Amino acid sequence: MRVTASVLNVRSAPGTSFSVISQLKQGEEVTVVEQSGDWSRVEPCGWVSSMYLASVTSLRKAPSGLDAIVAMFGQPGSAAASAGRVNLPAPLKLGWQNAYVSRVACHVEMEGIFAAVFGAIYDRGLWKLIRTYDGIYNDRVTTGGTKKSTHAWGIAVDLNASTNRYGTAGDMDPKLIRVFEEHGFLHLKHDPMHFQFARGY
Ligand SMILES: [Zn+2]
Repeated sequence: MRVTASVLNVRSAPGTSFSVISQLKQGEEVTVVEQSGDWSRVEPCGWVSSMYLASVTSLRKAPSGLDAIVAMFGQPGSAAASAGRVNLPAPLKLGWQNAYVSRVACHVEMEGIFAAVFGAIYDRGLWKLIRTYDGIYNDRVTTGGTKKSTHAWGIAVDLNASTNRYGTAGDMDPKLIRVFEEHGFLHLKHDPMHFQFARGY
């Protein structure tokens, strides 16, 4: 399970009257070993309120098709589509201006997923393969099309855009593609800068 609260108190027993023995942070993964009412005992520390735990598998399964995207993330361009914030493990250079970014906006329901995929890229020593960050949230239509881009939901990211233009083969490193795919993202072969947390759209 994954912690959804920004800070989650861990208590010595199931109930708010028991003492706080430690705290978990948003995005941390824990294993539930016992449940009692609305409380879960997590290894290795203690008891937490179950309402602040979300299933990792459900978070990682990307929706398929427009109806499923809307059911999971709402309408494109909604307030939620840009309300999420993710702290990057290290700064990235912006693709459209000479500046760096260390915190990016995304759909509020995608915070944990983007944090996990960027964290995995960094932890595996692949961070240098991201030469530029070219954006997540952008309420626009698809390149060369009329339907809303998955960027309009804040569920897609563009990387290394200058060498991965729409309609080219691009040079996206397969190791980066593999990490995104492991986290449920789809890499678009005809738009190689683009990774989206949705398929069939
Ligand atoms: Zn894109």
